[in-house]
Amino acid sequence: MIVKFNPVFSHTIWGGDKLRTDWGFDEKGDDIGECWSIAAHAHGDVSVSGGEFDGMKLSELWAEHRELFGNIQGDRFPLLVKIITAAGDLSIQVHPDDAYAREHENGSLGKTECWYVLDCEEDSKLVIGHNAKTKEELNKMIDEGRWTDFIREIPIKKGDFLTIVPGTVHAIKGGVTVIESQQNSDITYRVYDYDRLQNGKPRELHIDKSKDVITVPAASVEESVIAEDGSTGSKELLSCKYFDIFRVNVDGEEDFSEKRPFLLCTVINGEGKADDIDIKKGDSFMVSAGYEKIRFTGNMSLIISSLP
Ligand code: ZN
Repeated sequence: MIVKFNPVFSHTIWGGDKLRTDWGFDEKGDDIGECWSIAAHAHGDVSVSGGEFDGMKLSELWAEHRELFGNIQGDRFPLLVKIITAAGDLSIQVHPDDAYAREHENGSLGKTECWYVLDCEEDSKLVIGHNAKTKEELNKMIDEGRWTDFIREIPIKKGDFLTIVPGTVHAIKGGVTVIESQQNSDITYRVYDYDRLQNGKPRELHIDKSKDVITVPAASVEESVIAEDGSTGSKELLSCKYFDIFRVNVDGEEDFSEKRPFLLCTVINGEGKADDIDIKKGDSFMVSAGYEKIRFTGNMSLIISSLP
């Protein structure tokens, strides 16, 4: 079964209007920051669009129809996929791992995430990693507010894929759109927010927890970034303990036959069909368990995530 979803949106101080103007989503406002494409989280729970389960929340589908997910165990849906479009810079942040989140955040999951760059301006940059060589240097740079020394900005281009394991300092900068695939968690520690004010006040920082979880030294840029090679067909971008990520470029016809509990798919460009279902840029859907092989036709690109 192919299950399409209606996304939910979040409005943020760094948001813009691209999710409406570039992506065609029917959402008002000039502060739309995130489109939660596939999510079953307390802060965003998408609903099924059409078919037998029309209108049902993904969390309900997970609770009541586990057969669609290959009857796997788990008290919550494990993954979350969102499109993030930033008009302004996001705060500099870091996520804990499962063990730290369990102990310090009421049993929550940690967060491993990854970004595929969908769109950016010519000289766009992202923040990934930092320049401190030791824990002492890290603490000193943070305490003294030496942010330009501390933060590692790297140039990026469309199609770059970045892996952000727990402990990685990271931030999306203005003018950049990414699709983020992640563990189903919202635990974020904010290290620095460019001294901005929201409603007259700075947003809360989490300095001590950030110092606890930031990895020193940071992974190299080469370890963190893969460039798009433009090849037709499917390419595995990441395989880790929480999820596998593929990019699929369809030019005519392309079969995808991974034997997994389920596939989460988002069309990032173009249009076509998934078997006999029409799909276009911005659409997200799940291919349920028991589907031997899915045939994509048309001219489009997709990002697909699944459990390993
Ligand atoms: Zn993050």
